[in-house]
Amino acid sequence: MRNGLCAGISRIGIGIAVMGMSVPALTQSHDDPLTRPIAPQSAQRWLGPQAPVRIHGQTYLVGFAGLNVALIRTSAGLILMDGAVPQAVSDVKAHIRALGFSIRDVKLILSTEPHFDHAGGLAALARDSGATVIASAEGVAELRPGGGNPADPQAAWLERFPPVTRLRVARDGEAIQLGDTVVTAHATPGHTVGSMSWSWRSCEGKGKRQDCKTIVFAASLNPAAVDSYRFSAPANRSLTSAFQASFAKVRMMPCDILLTTHPDQGDGRAQLTRLKKQRHPNPFIDTSACRRYADRNAARLDAKLAAEAAQR
Ligand SMILES: [Zn+2]
Repeated sequence: MRNGLCAGISRIGIGIAVMGMSVPALTQSHDDPLTRPIAPQSAQRWLGPQAPVRIHGQTYLVGFAGLNVALIRTSAGLILMDGAVPQAVSDVKAHIRALGFSIRDVKLILSTEPHFDHAGGLAALARDSGATVIASAEGVAELRPGGGNPADPQAAWLERFPPVTRLRVARDGEAIQLGDTVVTAHATPGHTVGSMSWSWRSCEGKGKRQDCKTIVFAASLNPAAVDSYRFSAPANRSLTSAFQASFAKVRMMPCDILLTTHPDQGDGRAQLTRLKKQRHPNPFIDTSACRRYADRNAARLDAKLAAEAAQR
């Protein structure tokens, strides 16, 4: 089927070349190494269609029913957060266009974690926008080769993804400014060693009606691991204690609106359904969401540690 599709596209390419249009763009969509599908069957469950939507102020979601990609419009261009899987890049770009923007308006791309479901599309999105991808130092070290960290708790089942080239490191607590918007980096290692969460102030309305909220785009905090992985093993103890520190940090974070990288790790799906019916009060506003998100995942890690202790 793949060969058939390719043959069809190259015929169209030749036809258009005869009409005097440029071929390179078509050649790129014919077989673009940066958007080649990764794990298409498992990815499909994340890629349910979702119309792009404004959440609060100038913050939007441009991803999918099971996979969030966030977008902030600033006075100096767009900030994108996460890149989904490579095969989703054309849809992400279409969602950005549907909001009236262009991929070329994206100036910065922030990364939550170097796993293929969130980082697989980063290389193509960075290429097509010209933007720099920003991640933690540990995240950058994994994005550059396209994953493959053997120490990752999920290493055995992780897919490699296109290497990301235009990269910049953000320190924990660093404020990243684009135009009128400042996004703060929060190192939240655990699910991956390089996990980074991001927060910013979002305002809407004017004068007395102005309403400003802190939005957190939180990295995954679930202690997913292959069966043989032991969070209590001496070699993994530093990651496990970093994980526990991340829960404490997320619990205390200023947080009026939580966006999780997979909407079903929080209340994202139900909130979006309600938002389509009513914007005031905004169903995404929930000052307990970050605390509950941290508590839920801390309990999961505690359960894993208890199970490991029981096996000894
Ligand atoms: Zn992950």
